[in-house]
Amino acid sequence: MACFFWNMKGRLAFSKDLMDPESGISYEEPSPNTFSFNSPYGACQRCNGLGTINEVDLERVIPDDTKTINDAGIVPFGEVRENSTFSQLRAIAKHHKFSFATPIRRSRKRL
Ligand SMILES: [Zn+2]
Repeated sequence: MACFFWNMKGRLAFSKDLMDPESGISYEEPSPNTFSFNSPYGACQRCNGLGTINEVDLERVIPDDTKTINDAGIVPFGEVRENSTFSQLRAIAKHHKFSFATPIRRSRKRL
């Protein structure tokens, strides 16, 4: 926490923590962990220190949302066949009241 006082010369900042007097941002006391990319303490906040980020590019998964699941509209799943992925997808479709013949654009609105 920081306190600011103003006098004739300008702003004076006081803080128990390490603080940038210009911005008022406080920093914790640095320790070796602060500089360790793979410690939760010093880890990169974007990748949590893993160095890689897994993201889904929806444009590549569903490049054309006018297609249906029957048309292999969800590219990574491919053609409809009897396996656990499609039986789970069938259960999701039933629950959300759409079918594999529904254009994905319309199915999405139900999810
Ligand atoms: Zn990173």
